[in-house]
Amino acid sequence: MLIKKIKELREYLQPYKADNETIGLVPTMGALHAGHLSLIKTAKSMCDRVVVSVFVNPIQFGPNEDYTKYPRTLDEDYKLCTQNGVDAVFSPSPAEMYGEGFILSNNNLTYVCPPFNYTDKLCGKSRVGHFDGVCTVVNKLFNIAQPDFAFFGEKDAQQLIIIKKMVKDLNIPVEIIGCPLIREESGLALSSRNKYLSDDGKREALVLYKILQNIKKCYKQGITDVAALKETAFTFLNNNVELEYLEIYDADTLDELTKANDNSRAFIACKVEDVRLIDNIKLGE
Ligand code: AMP
Repeated sequence: MLIKKIKELREYLQPYKADNETIGLVPTMGALHAGHLSLIKTAKSMCDRVVVSVFVNPIQFGPNEDYTKYPRTLDEDYKLCTQNGVDAVFSPSPAEMYGEGFILSNNNLTYVCPPFNYTDKLCGKSRVGHFDGVCTVVNKLFNIAQPDFAFFGEKDAQQLIIIKKMVKDLNIPVEIIGCPLIREESGLALSSRNKYLSDDGKREALVLYKILQNIKKCYKQGITDVAALKETAFTFLNNNVELEYLEIYDADTLDELTKANDNSRAFIACKVEDVRLIDNIKLGE
C-alpha cells in the first residue's frame, strides 16, 4: 500500500496497534538497493507490520549538495517493497512533512539538534547542520508512525550512533536496531549515490574498502597506534580519489583514541568523480 499523507498512515496503522501488533519502521530516501532490502528483511523477521518511508529529506542537505539531483525512483521502490513483504510505503511530499512554502521559511521550523561532540567530526564536519536535519525528520517519522522498532544501517554509522543518542536523551519509545553494512561483491559499499558513478569511478571507489580492510589487517597484526594505522592509507590514494576524512574512533561514542581496540571503528569519506562516498569497518570483528 502506498501512502502519501500523514493522517492516512496513522489511520492505516491504528487497528494493528489496537491489536497489539508490533510495527517496524525502515526510514529511507529511496533508490532502494540490497542494503535497504537487508533492513527490510530484518524488520520483517522482528515485526508484525513493516512500514518503509521513502522521503528525500530537504533539510538534511546543504545548499551545495545533491538534493535536487538525488535519485527518485518511487515506482521501482514501491515494487521492490511489495515484493519483499512491506505492508506500507510512506512517501510524503516535502509540503506534507514541513508545510507549504517551507523552503522559503525553513528558519521557522523546530529542529532536533544532537550534541556537538557527536556532530563536529566525520560527516558532520563538512555537512554542517546535516544531523540536525536527520534527527528532525527521524523524530517526525517516529511521531507519525510510532513504531516499536526502527531499523538503520551501519553504512551510516555516525547517523546510527546519533539516532540512538537522540532516542535515549529524548525518551522516545522505540527500539533502534542497527543492521550490518551490505557490499557489492567487489567490496564497494552499496549506496544510492553509486548511481552517479561511471564504471571507472566504481573501480576507483574500491579504494575506500581497500584502505579500511588494510587498516583492519594491520590492527589484527598488532598495530594499535591510531596515527600509524591511518598512515597506512596513503599508499592506496591517487589523484582520482579525494580524501575527506579517515578517522578511527570508539564505535559506540565516537570518542577519539590514540590506541585502537576491538571496539574501534575506522571511518572514511572520499570524493570520486565528484561523488561523496562513505564507508566504515569495525576493527575487532
Ligand atoms: P538512505 O536511503 O541512504 O538514507 O538509507 C536508508 C537506510 O538504509 C539507512 O539506515 C542506511 O544506513 C541504510 N543503508 C544504506 N546503504 C546501506 C548498506 N549498504 N548496507 C546497510 N544499510 C544501508
